[in-house]
Amino acid sequence: MNYNKKTVRDVDVQGKKVLLRCDFNVPLAKDGSGVITDDKRIRAALPTIQYLLDQNAAVIACSHLGKPAATFESYAKKQAEKGKEATEESWKKSLKALSLAPVAKRLSELLGRPVIMAQDVVGPDAQAKAAALKPGEILLLENTRFEKGETKNDPELAKAMASMAEVYVSDAFGAVHRAHASTAGVADYLPAVSGFLIQKELEIIGGALANPKRPLVAILGGSKVSSKIGVINNLLEIADTIIIGGGMAYTFSAAQGGKVGESLLEADWESYANEMVEKAAAKGVKLLLPVDAVCADAFAPDAKSQVVKAGEIPDGWQGLDIGPETVKLYCDAVQGAGTVIWNGPMGVFEFPAFAKGTEAVAEALSKTSAITIIGGGDSAAAVQQLGYADKMTHISTGGGASLEFMEGKELPGVACLLDA
Ligand code: ADP
Ligand code: MG
Repeated sequence: MNYNKKTVRDVDVQGKKVLLRCDFNVPLAKDGSGVITDDKRIRAALPTIQYLLDQNAAVIACSHLGKPAATFESYAKKQAEKGKEATEESWKKSLKALSLAPVAKRLSELLGRPVIMAQDVVGPDAQAKAAALKPGEILLLENTRFEKGETKNDPELAKAMASMAEVYVSDAFGAVHRAHASTAGVADYLPAVSGFLIQKELEIIGGALANPKRPLVAILGGSKVSSKIGVINNLLEIADTIIIGGGMAYTFSAAQGGKVGESLLEADWESYANEMVEKAAAKGVKLLLPVDAVCADAFAPDAKSQVVKAGEIPDGWQGLDIGPETVKLYCDAVQGAGTVIWNGPMGVFEFPAFAKGTEAVAEALSKTSAITIIGGGDSAAAVQQLGYADKMTHISTGGGASLEFMEGKELPGVACLLDA
C-alpha cells in the first residue's frame, strides 16, 4: 500500500466547501443523557478543523457515533434477538441517544465559536445548511450511520454527501479500515486528501513498516493469539526481534509442552504458534517468549498470586502477567532498538497487582531513544493509564485501524486518497 498521500496542505481550500470526515465516535454516559465521558477524539480533530477555518474554508464535518440501527427493520431484529419488543417510538429514542448534537456542543466550546448542527446527514436540513454555509463557518452533519447506505458504501449516499462540498478531507483514522460511504465512497466524487491526524499515522506507522529505523523490535501481547495472527505474520516479515507477552503467550507455552494451568489458552492455535516459532528461526528473527509468569488463583484484582517458571503453572492457577525475569529480558531487548512497535498489554493491566509487566515495558520504552509506536485500543489505554503517554513517539488514534495497518492490510479510507 502507498502511504504517501496528499494532505490538506496540498490542495486549495480557500473559500471552498470542505467535507471533513472526523472520528467523533466518543464514549457516552450509559444513562442515555448524552454526556460525553471522554472528549479526546474531539480534541484530536481540532488541528485540522482549525487549519481549515483559518484557511477560510466552509467546513462540513461528519462522523459516525456508535452502532445505530438505520432502519426500523434492523432495529426490530436486534431487539428480537434480545427478546425485547420494538416500537417506532423506542427506535426513535435509540437514534436520539446516538445523535451528534452533544459533540457539536463540545466542539463549539473547544473551538470558541458556533458549530451549526444539521438534523440529518444528506436530508433537506443538511442540504439547506450546507448551501448557506459561509467561509470560516462550521456545520456538523448528523450521525452518518443514521443512513442505511453508510456501512454499505452506497454510491448514492456518497454522491449526495459529496454534492454538498468541493473537497474531501479525511481525518478519521479510527475508521479508515472501513469502506463506508463517508470514509471511502465520497472520494469517488471529490478530490480527496488527508487531514493532520491521518498524515501523522501514515508517516509514523507507515514509515516504521515500510522503512524502519533498525533494529525493529515488535512487542506483541494482549489476550488472544487468534486476534493477532495477522499482526504476528506481517511483523515476522519485517521485524528483527519479536517479543511475546500477555494471554497469548500461554498458547505458545502449551504448544511447547508447557503446563499452563487455567491460563488463557487457545488449543486450536497451538500448531500455529509452533509454526511461528519455526518461521522466526528460519528468517533469523529473534522471538522471545516469557521465562516466568505471575499466576493467580482466580481472575480477580485481589487474587492470591505467585511467581513460577514459564510452563510450570500449577493446576488451578492462571498466568495474569509476565514475571520479573521476563521483565528483565524484555526490557534488555528494547535497549538499542531503532524502532519499537507495541501492540497488546503484557498482562491484565486493569488489575494493579498484574500491571507490573506492562508498566515495566512502558517505562523501558519511555527511556529508549527509539521511535516508539503504540497501536491497539487497550494498549493505548494502558500506556495512558500508567502515565507514559507523553513519553512515546506516537500513540495511534485508531484501535482496529492500527491493528489492520500493522497487519499490512490495505486500508480503504487511505487507499482512496490522492497519491502525493
Ligand atoms: P489491544 O486492544 O491493544 O490490541 P488486546 O485487545 O489484544 O489489546 O488485549 C487487551 C486485553 O488483554 C486486556 O484487557 C488485558 O487484560 C488482556 N490480557 C493481557 N494479558 C492477559 C492474560 N495473561 N490473561 C488474560 N487476559 C490478558
Ligand atoms: Mg483490544
